[in-house]
Amino acid sequence: MNRDAGAGAGAPALEVEDIHKKFHGLEVLKGISLTAYDGDVISIIGSSGSGKSTFLRCINFLETPDAGRIRVGGEQIEVRQKRNGTLQTSDRQLVKLRQRLGFVFQNFNLWPHMTILENVIEGPVQVRGLSKKEAIEKAEALLAKVGIDSKRHAYPSHLSGGQQQRAAIARALAMDPQVILFDEPTSALDPELVAEVLGVMRGLAEEGRTMLIVTHEMGFAREVSNKVVFLHQGRVEEQGPPGKVLVDPDSPRLRQFLSSHL
Ligand code: ADP
Ligand code: MG
Repeated sequence: MNRDAGAGAGAPALEVEDIHKKFHGLEVLKGISLTAYDGDVISIIGSSGSGKSTFLRCINFLETPDAGRIRVGGEQIEVRQKRNGTLQTSDRQLVKLRQRLGFVFQNFNLWPHMTILENVIEGPVQVRGLSKKEAIEKAEALLAKVGIDSKRHAYPSHLSGGQQQRAAIARALAMDPQVILFDEPTSALDPELVAEVLGVMRGLAEEGRTMLIVTHEMGFAREVSNKVVFLHQGRVEEQGPPGKVLVDPDSPRLRQFLSSHL
């Protein structure tokens, strides 16, 4: 698939500019910028502790960035500076942001006391105001799409990790997000369950969904993404097309990282 058409195709789906984040005085993100155009599939790679999760969490304010700008669909997310210097966004802005950005967690984070169907309809009914009937119809279609419609009345604990993660992807899709953020979606899975989740994600990429994926699955990154970003100690050390970044990188640190991950 040709995804090079991104540049010039109108406002980017997501623009993140110069994000900084400290924890207890330690600077974990030192000014990270990233632009995703519609249909971009961007893999974010890097060693453990390089700031990948923090970066993703800052984009949808699961962590509040200390500084930086975020635009979704060309619209700036308004933030104000709190007295301690960190940024804060209004609840209204936060709801809007979270509607537009789906998030898929390493540990699925399904609500354990709700069935799979209830998990998927919760956001559409509570946040987007869909009728229960509409939300159920949509949820059933999405559960069929990720191959777990037979589990719709089961509770998360009765599903395998791969099934739970597919349910979590259906839950994210139910909000019609503009961009989906994935934080190591397969790293909590037994090896034999990884492929079923990557298969669903590959399907989403082929549909032209815009995705940011933190992953250690280098083969998948190479095959599915059109851009790869390598983080090192809170900075973008190298970025570019997978055929360059994953095959013939300029950065010695990236070369070293790849030699331990391929
Ligand atoms: P990665 O996802 O690349 O492994 P993280 O973003 O999780 O990296 O972490 C980057 C650094 O920030 C690590 O040193 C980690 O210990 C620290 N960190 C992450 N979250 C917190 C937090 N909530 N409080 C304090 N330190 C944190
Ligand atoms: Mg992480």
